[in-house]
Amino acid sequence: MSYQYDLFVIGAGSGGVRASRVAASKGFKVGVAESQALGGTCVNIGCVPKKLFVYGSEYSHIASQAKGYGWTFSKPSFDWATLRDNKSKEIERLNGIYKNLLENPGVTIHQGYGELVDAHTVKVGDEIITAERILIAVGAQPFVPEFPGNEHVLVSDDMFFLEELPKSILVVGGGYIAVEFAGICNGLGVETTLMYRGDKLLRGFDEDVRDFASNEYSRSGVNVQLNSDVAKIELQGKQKRVMLKDGRELVFDEVLYATGRVPNTDKLNVASAGIETTKNGAIVVNDRYQSTADSVYAIGDVTDRVQLTPVAIKEAMALIGYWFDGIEPNFDYDNIPTAVFSQPPIGTVGLIEQEADRRGLDIDVYQTDFRAMKHTLSGAQERSFMKLIVDRSTDKVIGAHMIGDYAGEIIQGLGIAIKAGATKAHFDSTVGVHPTSAEEFVTFS
Ligand code: NDP
Repeated sequence: MSYQYDLFVIGAGSGGVRASRVAASKGFKVGVAESQALGGTCVNIGCVPKKLFVYGSEYSHIASQAKGYGWTFSKPSFDWATLRDNKSKEIERLNGIYKNLLENPGVTIHQGYGELVDAHTVKVGDEIITAERILIAVGAQPFVPEFPGNEHVLVSDDMFFLEELPKSILVVGGGYIAVEFAGICNGLGVETTLMYRGDKLLRGFDEDVRDFASNEYSRSGVNVQLNSDVAKIELQGKQKRVMLKDGRELVFDEVLYATGRVPNTDKLNVASAGIETTKNGAIVVNDRYQSTADSVYAIGDVTDRVQLTPVAIKEAMALIGYWFDGIEPNFDYDNIPTAVFSQPPIGTVGLIEQEADRRGLDIDVYQTDFRAMKHTLSGAQERSFMKLIVDRSTDKVIGAHMIGDYAGEIIQGLGIAIKAGATKAHFDSTVGVHPTSAEEFVTFS
């Protein structure tokens, strides 16, 4: 049987682009379907524009914090359209780079929505395309729960293109996207309420980090409302009247729902190819990222394992290693370092204290909280927190957690240390970089 392509990829996001371009550079004939802009969620409506907005919102503190260092500025003002449009220009530049990344090694881009016909056939618009292997890398989309008035809410995708910045916003959710957008909006001067149904934000993170983060978000000006949930939303002119389950009623210019993301398989016609999905639509794959149809593979958020760009990229490379060199994929899902770009940011890698306890490990816990040196003159009251979890029996550092300036940058190096099996003795014998916050990690006693 001869096919048009050796590999056809549905979705030109982080995982799909990496798999396509490397496979093409190694000699596969590759096609890729993308219905929206190249680069997927991360580049267009995720990590990249979000981080630009975080940078943008951090400038709001500069005028007040620089005073202690001798600077005075005339009254600062902020223009949303400038930030939004400059961000869009930068994303367009990146879209161009992604186009080159695909076309240079010879990948054919099919602009349009790719839908499965069978395990070797994809339909893109009117075009029918056949391939020896199909890779599904279509990512995920925001999930909004069912309740009366849910059509009035925004999701994170919308935040990148708002015509006007609202004066007030309710952010619902307690995960990555909710705390990041609460920080962005608060920093940009929007009166921000962060509402979470549980008693602590950021489920899955270390309990101390969760407590510390919540306090710091409140300190920075976010109105954090825990144990609260929305029952109903009605329009009140251009505003949204929000009725809570506890009977309270609040009014906001906008409501943002950041209540998780679900795999993008609803219109993919996966059943036609005999592909099994989980209850929430995730494609079920084996250790080789192979679906229940042998010729169809899936990586990234559509498999709903770990919804992170660098994970999708590692999965793409694991597949390439398997296809071209016969190496069994062995990507290790433990000890994935990650950062939450809230304000202040969080960095985390390895086990949290509660998980170490749950596993019955005998651990030592080292932790500290302090006011970073920069803020002694800036006057800002924000504090940093760091925590190290050590397995007593091996002396290995099995978890590192931080909230404070540069946490994302600092945790990357600790991720390498933990991956390499560094012990507390290694940390202790490492000379601190002075004066930094990071040196606290090597001076715990
Ligand atoms: P998360 O899964 O992180 O958080 C979802 C939040 O919504 C949780 O607090 C959850 O509460 C709450 N929630 C879920 N369902 C409901 C409901 N029906 N009503 C009220 N609240 C609800 O999802 P996000 O959308 O924040 O982000 C998706 C994923 O994207 C993240 O998990 C992360 O992997 C990735 N991401 C990574 C980033 C980074 O690396 N910096 C940035 C942004 C996203 P509960 O905990 O009680 O279930």
